[in-house]
Amino acid sequence: LKEALQLSSEEIKDLRKDLNEKIKQSNIGAYVEQLTNSDISICGEGIPIAIKDNINVKDWEITCSSNILKNYISPYNATVIDNLIKANLSPFGRTNMDEFAMGSSTESSCYGKTLNPIDNNKVPGGSSGGSAAAVAGGIAIAALGTDTGGSIRQPAAYCGCVGMKPTYGRVSRYGITAYSSSLDQCGPITQNVEDAAILYDIISGNDPMDSTSLNIEYPKVSQSLNSDKKLTIAVIENFIEQASDEVKKGFNKAVDALKEAGHTIVYKNMVDTSKILSSYYIVATAEASANLSRFDGVRYGNRKGDAGLKDMYTQTKSQGFGHEVQKRILLGSFVLSSGYYDAYYIKAQKVRHLIKDEYETIFKEADLILSPVSPTTAVEFGSFKTSLDMYLSDIYTISVNLAGLPAISLPVDKDSSGMPVGVQLIGKAYDEQTMFDGALSLE
Ligand code: GLN
Repeated sequence: LKEALQLSSEEIKDLRKDLNEKIKQSNIGAYVEQLTNSDISICGEGIPIAIKDNINVKDWEITCSSNILKNYISPYNATVIDNLIKANLSPFGRTNMDEFAMGSSTESSCYGKTLNPIDNNKVPGGSSGGSAAAVAGGIAIAALGTDTGGSIRQPAAYCGCVGMKPTYGRVSRYGITAYSSSLDQCGPITQNVEDAAILYDIISGNDPMDSTSLNIEYPKVSQSLNSDKKLTIAVIENFIEQASDEVKKGFNKAVDALKEAGHTIVYKNMVDTSKILSSYYIVATAEASANLSRFDGVRYGNRKGDAGLKDMYTQTKSQGFGHEVQKRILLGSFVLSSGYYDAYYIKAQKVRHLIKDEYETIFKEADLILSPVSPTTAVEFGSFKTSLDMYLSDIYTISVNLAGLPAISLPVDKDSSGMPVGVQLIGKAYDEQTMFDGALSLE
């Protein structure tokens, strides 16, 4: 991306053509449709950036990889898209994802699966699996994804590229299809840390169209990157125990590399991770059940059923939404229902506060936290036999969203079968600079 920003408009034209050819020849299913020349010129002739299928691009189809939205055309640009265009970057191709960003493997897309470019028998991770596979597979310079509980960082780790989730509120959510509004953030998936910083600078900023957008300073982190800063980095000991031996090996390698670079490592503990998982899946599904109620066949989505209102709702939702999405709507409606609200939803919010407090305590003595991204490297297709199996793979990423913190995942090792092992550096709220500096020293 850094090099692309130096190119003349003629050179960018050639780059776009080359990329289009490469995409047409690729068989990993990273994009939800093959590009055609007319599709790609809608947003200008800038540096091509791949866009996840839940971010609005005016006049493009946006489906969140769900049958319910097939053929729905965006009437406007998300703020992140306007920001790209202002910087001479152009949306270029829609990337595949888990339906409505609910999942960790991109297997729940209505378009079918995306293959991991390193080993086609393995999942690319999710939910931004298409974005990560496109970047790692050499068919995107950089991409945008969204991260509600790890959907940028985990696929980046599975495919061997860099994925960054900003502090909650740093990047506008206007025009991004809401999954869980208090957890969602959009962020970059790139080939290296510096590109992630550049793309983050471009998409972040205060936006009056998003009431949760932060009205604070946005210093350009990419212009002040410094990998020589000596930092104190915390390792959460009881977190690591749950990782596979291969992930532990990669993690320990990262610890050694950080020590070698002159950073100080301190060891800490945190709340039981099973509580984190329960809290996340209650908050996320509760918000999802409210957000997805708009897809009712009246305002958005494909209408089904013509025997009255109830029939229309029933047919539209049961035919339009896939199994995992339906399950989450039901679970979310249950935890918000009057008899169970206090027992589940309120309790989950209390646990969420506890998690935030624990992070704040650790950050009194550390600049960053180093953690695995996922307990394993990329698994084979069909490995998640139940939803719970899949939820358990999110243990390292979801607490970061519950606490609203920034984090970046980057590859540090390979397992015995050659699959990438990633780690993440979690930063203090609003301190993306230190997070990028630390990541650069580990790259
Ligand atoms: N895997 C998590 C979930 O299914 C996170 C998804 C995401 O970040 N969008 O909710």
